[in-house]
Amino acid sequence: MSQDLAYKHDAVYPSGLSLDELAALLAQEPPYRANQAFAWFAKGVLSFEAMTNMPQRLRTRLSEYFDGHTRSSTVEKSLVDEDGSLKLQIRLRDGAAVECVLLEDIEGRKTACLSSQVGCPMGCTFCKTGGLGFLRNLGPDEILEQFHHLRDARGFISNVVFMGMGEPLLNLDNVRKAITILSHPKGIGMSMRKITISTSGIVPGILDIANAGPFVRLAVSITSANPNLRTQLMPVNKTWPLADLKAALLEYQRNTHERITLEVVLLGNVNTHENDALELADWIHPLKAQVNLIAWNPIAGMPFETPTARQVRLFSEVLERKGIVTVQRMSRGRGVMGACGQLGDTLKTTREH
Ligand code: SF4
Repeated sequence: MSQDLAYKHDAVYPSGLSLDELAALLAQEPPYRANQAFAWFAKGVLSFEAMTNMPQRLRTRLSEYFDGHTRSSTVEKSLVDEDGSLKLQIRLRDGAAVECVLLEDIEGRKTACLSSQVGCPMGCTFCKTGGLGFLRNLGPDEILEQFHHLRDARGFISNVVFMGMGEPLLNLDNVRKAITILSHPKGIGMSMRKITISTSGIVPGILDIANAGPFVRLAVSITSANPNLRTQLMPVNKTWPLADLKAALLEYQRNTHERITLEVVLLGNVNTHENDALELADWIHPLKAQVNLIAWNPIAGMPFETPTARQVRLFSEVLERKGIVTVQRMSRGRGVMGACGQLGDTLKTTREH
């Protein structure tokens, strides 16, 4: 690696470097060079040679510094669903793998669903990723490269959700850094309001972002407001029970004044009864929350069934009668196992040797 550059990058690839880190790296250059480099990496440039507004000597030095690679990961497989959803299987530099998905809705909004960890330690019983176990956290470069790979394939991306593999609030430092870079006006410039962190209910993480940001949208997978049933479905409830979760969400709302999205994965005849909806409505009060109802997406070998359209409608009607805004989320990406809870179905997280 070149010794001419000022800062040791500690194995973070270019897309995971903040503008400040690039400024430190290029400290011996005129200050505008860091802005130029940051803008190129935000565009997802594929080679240092393509950074044509920078002098050749600097392109060569950057290339030497990063061992010739602007990205640490590669797309191993690309799968397109009938509904147009795109799922990418990404191979990471250590041979591990993650998946990310690009979902497009009828209004043409393109949402990148990004992973934050390889596998997931949370063990939600209805989720394929939960069954894979946990390997490691993703770095900010590995998180943002998913965005770049999806944008290479589909062009402009309007929204980002941290709803892929992993629990983002257990990798908060790296997710936070990725969001800082993603939203920086001199780079990708995505509005914080277009970014959502989705958590299974990590109370310390919710309190952390309630006080220190990033002030993006927050979604919480609640699934059931019945303590016993939630513990069965989501083991996180043993560590951070519903009462603690609600106290954290109330603090979040006191600080941010933002509405929260509560996600309910509906499992046919498990959490679809009228009482389940009534218990949820009681628990929600006095939170300002919208409920997203997600009919469970089938996964071979799992002991659940997709709810009927009638079960989903009746559940929604009970909540609406209690004054709670409810959205029935379309299941996009099912055909490529890219819908909610299905990531990892076709994947081994580590390379077979
Ligand atoms: S639902 Fe989310 S938090 Fe739960 S196991 Fe799956 S990826 Fe992890």
